[in-house]
Amino acid sequence: MQSFKDFDLNPNIQKALEAIGFETPTPVQVQSLTHLLDEPQDMIALAQTGTGKTAAFSLPILHHCEPHSKKPQALILSPTRELCIQIGNDIDKFTKYSKGIDQLSVYGGTAITNQIKGLRNKPQIIVGTPGRTLDLIKRKKLDVSDVQWLVLDEADEMLSMGFQDDLNEILETTPDDKKTLLFSATLAGEIKKIADNYLSNPVEVTIGRKNISAENVDHSYYQVHYRDRYDALKRIVDMNPQVYGIVFCRTRAETKEIAAKLTEDGYNSDALHGDLSQAQRDYVMQKFRKRQLRLLVATDVAARGLDVNDLTHVINYKLPDDREVYVHRSGRTGRAGKSGSSIAILERRDLSRIRGFEKMIGKDFIKKELPSGKEICEKQLFNYIDKVVNTEVNEAEIKQFLPAIEEKLSELSQEDILKRFVSIEFNRFLDYYKGARDINDRSTVKDRRDKKGRNEDGGRDRDRRSKRGDSDVDFTRFFINLGKLHKMNPKSMLDLINNTLPQKGVEIGEIELLKGFSFFELDRKFEDAALKAFAKCTYKGLKVRIEVAQPKSKSSSGGRGGKKGGKSGRGKKRHKGGRGKRNNW
Ligand code: AMP
Repeated sequence: MQSFKDFDLNPNIQKALEAIGFETPTPVQVQSLTHLLDEPQDMIALAQTGTGKTAAFSLPILHHCEPHSKKPQALILSPTRELCIQIGNDIDKFTKYSKGIDQLSVYGGTAITNQIKGLRNKPQIIVGTPGRTLDLIKRKKLDVSDVQWLVLDEADEMLSMGFQDDLNEILETTPDDKKTLLFSATLAGEIKKIADNYLSNPVEVTIGRKNISAENVDHSYYQVHYRDRYDALKRIVDMNPQVYGIVFCRTRAETKEIAAKLTEDGYNSDALHGDLSQAQRDYVMQKFRKRQLRLLVATDVAARGLDVNDLTHVINYKLPDDREVYVHRSGRTGRAGKSGSSIAILERRDLSRIRGFEKMIGKDFIKKELPSGKEICEKQLFNYIDKVVNTEVNEAEIKQFLPAIEEKLSELSQEDILKRFVSIEFNRFLDYYKGARDINDRSTVKDRRDKKGRNEDGGRDRDRRSKRGDSDVDFTRFFINLGKLHKMNPKSMLDLINNTLPQKGVEIGEIELLKGFSFFELDRKFEDAALKAFAKCTYKGLKVRIEVAQPKSKSSSGGRGGKKGGKSGRGKKRHKGGRGKRNNW
């Protein structure tokens, strides 16, 4: 095993690494130090979060950094504010003993004026999100004409977040002879194009598909019916009394809903999603870091860059569509040599997707059975007993109360005392799980489906998509931030959808127009296409936002909503107007 001391790194950096306890470089760090210390060159590193990539790109840059230079020498681009802050903090640690070397993190969602002021201090290293960085360049506040290093951190994420044009513009603005380091989980599609266009003779290093922690992460799943997902989540949490983890949801609406339910049910949890203000996000993250929250319910975007190392569990309330997103999610546990569990709550129809995820992570998922109520109660009971055994007793303080306590308890036998004291905690679980049914779905794809993929009830599985009884199309219901207030009517909504989607002939289901927002349904096959297309859509100057919504519940459908939608042929547009209630929002 190599040590940082084996490399000819600047002694001030060595000293800082010692101070923070980094002794052995991770594989990606070995690669970057080997290839970039003596002779800087372009590099592509296929490495994910958790591999130690921040130090991998920062250390060689800092080693070559010139403290007396008045212009930024390195520009590190990263997809989110949180990641920028995290990278900035890491660089501050690495430069603890390197006098005169400073970094500045620049990102949106906070006043640009402070960042402009910060630039006046002539930091050598700029860590920024593409949008804010480009903004500062265009305002001529950030001079990148002398940049010698450009890092594209989590390049795949930056592209998937729509930063491609910004990246191209920044890359064009920086000097040709700079060294570019591209870090990404994949090298496909547009990333390959960027690599081909902007990197010259890069050395390529691959740190496997797995991140360094993957060895310590086990992957498992529980199979339940859609209606039992939330109960399954609770059983998983109850069965793991020491849980400290993230519950990943697919949409903001779902995130809010699950976090609210967990809080109502007495769990220390909160939600992290894009609708929170920056101050609210910071507050939630701080509570989570301090472990005042045991469960953080989050969307993938919101959880990016969350720098918490000791997570015991990552729970996939719903599996992501993208396998790489799963890799990112599961890589949040099992870090820094600790073990972790990545758990997925699945429906039968998700089973066929597991194989793809297994290929991606190079490991098998273990199918697990949700514990019965009795098993959970037992687990909680013994966890409580363990807590009691491990509780520190403040002899001096408690002593004075002992005689009075003994007197109060004198009527009770030792056994009674024991039972009662255990019941304080235990009763809650006993009550909750009294008569709890088995919620495991043990059916397999084969034995329940006919050739058309229908289940034994003759219908297709329902999830967030909805299905009209008279059509073969599975619909996804979308929330859209436009409603009657914005002068939307069924026709203008149809026009907007048709004009925004690049595909022709997409079946449109129900349109439900409300005051400030609305819902519409699209053929589920076009869910991703719609999310992508609407990400760039504006309507009368307003940025349009759509999100996958919960399916309309049976009770509300056809109630205030008016008539049922009629039968329609493929490709024919259909919709229904009317009033309705906002579901789970
Ligand atoms: P990163 O992939 O840069 O986000 O790093 C993942 C985690 O590993 C961070 O908490 C780092 O502080 C930690 N880390 C990175 N490199 C090392 C190292 N060489 N030794 C110990 N911990 C490290």
